[in-house]
Amino acid sequence: MNTGIFWFTNDLRVDDNPALANATKHLGHLLCVYVVEPSWFEPNRYGQKSLGDHRWHFLLESLDDLQGALGKVGQQLLLVNDTPLSGLGKLITAFGVNSLFRSQNAGYYENHYWQQLQQRYPQLLFKEFPSHTLFSEDSLPFSLNDFPGSFSKFRKQVESLTPIATEGNISQLTFPSPPKGLAWAQPKLPKTSNSQHTPLFTGGSRAGKKHLLQYFSKRHASSYKETRNALGDWESSTKFSPWLANGSLSINHILRNLQHYEATIERNDSTEWIYFEILWREYFQWLAHANSYRLFSPKGIKQIKPLTSFYPERFQRWCQGNTPFPLVNACMKQLKSTGYLSNRGRQIVASCFVNELNLDWRYGAAYFEQELIDYDVAVNWGNWQYLAGVGTDPRGKRHFDIDKQTALYDPDHRFINKWQGETNILPMDSVDASDWPITRL
Ligand code: FAD
Repeated sequence: MNTGIFWFTNDLRVDDNPALANATKHLGHLLCVYVVEPSWFEPNRYGQKSLGDHRWHFLLESLDDLQGALGKVGQQLLLVNDTPLSGLGKLITAFGVNSLFRSQNAGYYENHYWQQLQQRYPQLLFKEFPSHTLFSEDSLPFSLNDFPGSFSKFRKQVESLTPIATEGNISQLTFPSPPKGLAWAQPKLPKTSNSQHTPLFTGGSRAGKKHLLQYFSKRHASSYKETRNALGDWESSTKFSPWLANGSLSINHILRNLQHYEATIERNDSTEWIYFEILWREYFQWLAHANSYRLFSPKGIKQIKPLTSFYPERFQRWCQGNTPFPLVNACMKQLKSTGYLSNRGRQIVASCFVNELNLDWRYGAAYFEQELIDYDVAVNWGNWQYLAGVGTDPRGKRHFDIDKQTALYDPDHRFINKWQGETNILPMDSVDASDWPITRL
């Protein structure tokens, strides 16, 4: 009997998962695995963790929900606390695995691990399927080597393509009997620290679907275009991003719900704008596929050297929400407390990071990676490059006028006051860079 591994990554769902559906078609026995890498919890080259508390908490809930959904089809989720190469390697050997399935991934490191596994186990069958994007690579009317130079060009070529067809639901997945002497125990995983705030989002497919239903059961989508730039209101934008980022909700499922709303309630500029934003997400996924490691390069996709330096004090104060700019501070405090920040807020703080503070954009992106509950490698690093002027924005670096943004989006300082953006403001560089770190802040 064929025994395979299904490696869950950015597709934490059982329904509507083309990669999982294909694995079950080909395999008699299946091991469903999720790898928690120890390095996620250690400081990376930017001094940040790849996985902060908000997302870790959300991920644990998502995995728990996935465990429940797999249980209903006779399966279980094996958690591995190891590097992919070593953790999956041990399972391959112990269970005599002959194939590995996963969803396609836009991340450079995720693809690097996949290649390493292929090199180490050339006798195995490796199969991946698109589950994280709306369209498959085959259906794109251009090759990734010839990727459109701007979002507008991309959008015009893809907006009327047919999304990937959904697969039927999975009925039963057989778990192989464990080899003699192997007693599987779930590993002890790092704990989340106790947050003072009630989490905004609950992880998992069930919670994601519930949120989706609630969103479309009211008429929020009909006014999305007018409200989407608001800084603080929950209903001003869809809030689909955390579930989309780890794949508890599929982008196809969201699109079908949007289309249903348009067919049964209303189609207008706002509903079309939601699709427009979904295409932005799609664009960044394929841009990351096309550019691999260049997504993290300081010169970016454009290969332009930005004029930046690094000021540790400025960086720390930006992270803590203690810059001379109350609106930026309020946004950064919201991000730290909740793991979420509106799109407008993200643009304002990223522009401040690059233009007012003159910092190396990669450190900002790395801090977002740590803090965001909806962190998505392609969307985050792609947006940062875009704002820093090293990405694909034909207009170059974006500079948001913070006073103007405050007047437009927080004229009565409700948002600033809520997040205490005005407290403890010090002049920009209170310490000479060579004297840093100090304990004064
Ligand atoms: P909505 O406004 O309701 O949009 C609907 C969906 O469209 C979103 O869920 C998202 O999937 C997509 N979308 C919206 N805006 C963008 C955009 N600018 N680029 C790509 N897709 C978009 N989004 C992430 O999901 N993960 C990230 O790591 C991330 N990092 C970002 C970093 C920066 C510097 C900036 C400026 C934006 C970033 N975004 C990221 C995009 C955007 O801010 C969030 O997707 C959005 O705020 C999530 O809230 P929402 O689901 O209510 O969005």
